Amino acid sequence: MGPDLLGDDTICAVATGSGGALGIVRISGPAAEAILARLAPSLASAAPGSQGPAVAPTRPPTRLESHALGRVTLRDPVGGEPIDEVLACVMRAPRSYTGETVVELQGHGGEANLQRLLASVLQAGARLARPGEFTQRAFLAGRIDLAQAEAVAGVIAARSQRALRVAHAQLRGSLSGAVAALGTRLVALLAEVEASVDFPDERLDLPSPAALADEAGAIAAEASRLAGSHGRGRLLVEGIDVALVGRANAGKSSLLNALAGEERALVDEAPGTTRDFLEVELLLGDQRAVLVDTAGERDAPGALEERGLALGRRRRDRADVVVVVVDGTVGVAAIERGLLEEALAAGARPVIAWNKSDLTPPGAEPLPSLSPDLPVIATAAPTGLGVAELARAIRGAGLGEATLDEGEVVTSARQRELLEGVAQAAAEAAGTLGRGGAPELAAPDLRAALDRVGQITGQSFDAEVLDRIFSRFCIGK
Ligand code: GDP
Repeated sequence: MGPDLLGDDTICAVATGSGGALGIVRISGPAAEAILARLAPSLASAAPGSQGPAVAPTRPPTRLESHALGRVTLRDPVGGEPIDEVLACVMRAPRSYTGETVVELQGHGGEANLQRLLASVLQAGARLARPGEFTQRAFLAGRIDLAQAEAVAGVIAARSQRALRVAHAQLRGSLSGAVAALGTRLVALLAEVEASVDFPDERLDLPSPAALADEAGAIAAEASRLAGSHGRGRLLVEGIDVALVGRANAGKSSLLNALAGEERALVDEAPGTTRDFLEVELLLGDQRAVLVDTAGERDAPGALEERGLALGRRRRDRADVVVVVVDGTVGVAAIERGLLEEALAAGARPVIAWNKSDLTPPGAEPLPSLSPDLPVIATAAPTGLGVAELARAIRGAGLGEATLDEGEVVTSARQRELLEGVAQAAAEAAGTLGRGGAPELAAPDLRAALDRVGQITGQSFDAEVLDRIFSRFCIGK
């Protein structure tokens, strides 16, 4: 086999996680199939010229059909001793994930075996792939756009079914579609603005500057709407950050355990068991959440306790949702009112849990200065009463009203920043057009907006941006 076939741009990596019964080594590039032929001599096509007529130059290096599995013993490319029995699959270019010829070797799992497989592939002429390099090649080959490539990372990182649904919808191109629609509108608007430059004196059937300004404004609003979905997208992907606050002994740790469905926080009858804060990750239905149990507030805390309280307060200021746990046997006092005010001031959405309702049901005492329109959920942590309802209330408070199709939710900060840039530039253009000046003055802003749209889907990109996106991937993807 000539060195021309073994270009240094054929990459390989272990594509599966550790611990499985099977493992996959993936190879992509012009030499992928030649490497397989070298490791599996029994699969290799007959050597050219050895017998019969000359072999056509397009003849593939192995006898495997494309996209079919073949069982084969791989052998050390130098010594010839067997390495592993695998199922090999060749996916010939361009019908593959990367658009190049891809070979996948399904071998026995286990770190040592897969590393040996990988080492022999490297020895046969491939080089180790960088993180995300397979997906980067898929992007560069035009098989997926940049927003879809980011969605691939989202699928792998998804830790709830909901996050997974969003990533899959983006992978199918739903966000790309919404962004592309913005691009189409910008191109049309730019064409009209430029037509007024090219034919200034002709009374063509051009829209009025006011109509152009309206369209630029509408584009800005749509870009803002998409950028604004990032808050929700972040919650979907990273989970709702929920803090449980309340006086010591109100039952915060017990509620956390009840929500988590298992004993996670230390429950104790002595007040002050949770000294700073404790984080637990859980699913509220299909929505991921991170629950933080903070130190309980007391009227006269000690010095050490005060330090724990301060840490807990700082942590809870980051929360999306704050659950004020009221000890039903004590009722609402200054502590609860203070906690609610702090939560609102920090921009969190509050939920009130009236705990120990098995002992004192809510309504026995009204909640005068806690906001009247806040739902109060009666809970009893030990019996599980009201816990499912509390979980629903937390989920609802965290996610708010669903105003967007899940597939159109922006989950990457990069996309949000670019969309904000689109909105800003389109708004500038709308301002220029609205002031009634020469329409062409709006062209540079419209072009800037269009350029940013292109960066979202990757029609225009630079190497640095690609590096930043794909370095977050795992190796083998
Ligand atoms: P925290 O300090 O707010 O975390 O409170 P804990 O969860 O440690 O609970 C303090 C005490 O109250 C423990 O003895 C719990 O068993 C008890 N407790 C918590 N929730 C309830 C409840 O809903 N009903 C009753 N009867 N007891 C509860």
